[in-house]
Amino acid sequence: MTERRLRIAIQKKGRLADASLKLLKDAGYRAVQGKNELLYRVENAPIDLMRVRDDDIPGFLEDGVCELGVIGENVMAEAFAGNGEHERPEIIQKLGFGKCRLMVAMPEAARYDGPASLEGMRIATSYPGLLGEFLRRNGVKATPILMHGAVEVAPRLKMAQAICDLVSTGSTLEANNLKAVELVFESQAVLALTRAGIDPAVQNVADSVIARIEGVVATQGTKYILMNAPRAALDEIAEILPGANSPTVLPLAGKEDKVAVHAVCRESVFWETLEKLKAAGASAILVLPIEKMMM
Ligand code: ATP
Ligand code: ZN
Repeated sequence: MTERRLRIAIQKKGRLADASLKLLKDAGYRAVQGKNELLYRVENAPIDLMRVRDDDIPGFLEDGVCELGVIGENVMAEAFAGNGEHERPEIIQKLGFGKCRLMVAMPEAARYDGPASLEGMRIATSYPGLLGEFLRRNGVKATPILMHGAVEVAPRLKMAQAICDLVSTGSTLEANNLKAVELVFESQAVLALTRAGIDPAVQNVADSVIARIEGVVATQGTKYILMNAPRAALDEIAEILPGANSPTVLPLAGKEDKVAVHAVCRESVFWETLEKLKAAGASAILVLPIEKMMM
C-alpha cells in the first residue's frame, strides 16, 4: 500500500524558489531530490514538494493537484481576477518575502494627473486581469497589451504608452527612463490552501505544516527581552518595549521594589530602545533571538 503524502507546490526556479525551500527547512522539513527534478521528497514527514513554474500553482491548488502552495499573491490574484471569491484557494499566511508592487509606469517626460491620464492608452503588461480591475475601479478605458516579459521596453518600441509591471527596487524602471505613477497591487509570497477538499489521511500533516510555518513567520524579527526593573517603572517600561504584548513580571528574591521583566518583542529592538529602558530604571537588559515559536 502506498502511503498518501501531502503535496506542496513551490516555484522551481526564480525569485521565490530559494526562500520557499528555506521556509520549509526552517519549519523542520528535510527535502531531498526524488526520482526526478519535479518532485522533492521530505524525508522526515509524509510530504512531497512539487517544483513547478509559479504560474501553474494557482491552477494546481484550484484542482486539488496539491494541497498547499507557496506563491506570489500577485500571481494568485491575477489567476482569479474577475472570478468569485469562493473559487480562490485560501490565503493562509503572508510569508514576508517576495515583496513587490504591481505599478503603472510611464516615460519620465510624460504628464500624469491621475488615472484619467491613462484614458485611451495602450498599456503593456503581464497582468491584464489586475490591470483591468484597476482600470474599471477608476472608470478608465484603456487597452492592456499582453506581454510575457521585458514589459519595460514597450514604450521605447512604441508598442504602448504606459506599462503595468512588478517593481521592487525601481532600478529597472529608472534604467528605462520610466516613472511609477500608480500602485495597482501590493504583493508578497503567501502560503495558500486548496479549497478542493483535503484527504483525511493528510489533514493532520497539512495542519502541522500550517502551524509550523505560522510559527516560522511569527519569529521573523522577534526577540526575547529580559531585564530587571523597579516595580514603580513597569508602566513606563511596557510603553517602551517594541510590539510586545503584556510582559511577564516575576519577583526577584530578596528585593521588594525590583522585579524581572520578560517579553517577546515583535519589532526590532535597537540600541536606542535599550538606552530608553536603562533611562527608565531597567538594568541587566538581555536581548535574545527566538529560535522557534508555536502560536
Ligand atoms: P516562473 O519561471 O516560475 O514562471 P517567473 O519569471 O514568472 O518564474 P519570477 O521573476 O521568478 O517569476 O518572480 C516570481 C515572483 O516573485 C513574482 O510573481 C512576484 O511575486 C515576486 N517578485 C518580487 N520582486 C519582484 C520583481 N522585482 N519583479 C518580478 N517579480 C518579483
Ligand atoms: Zn511565472
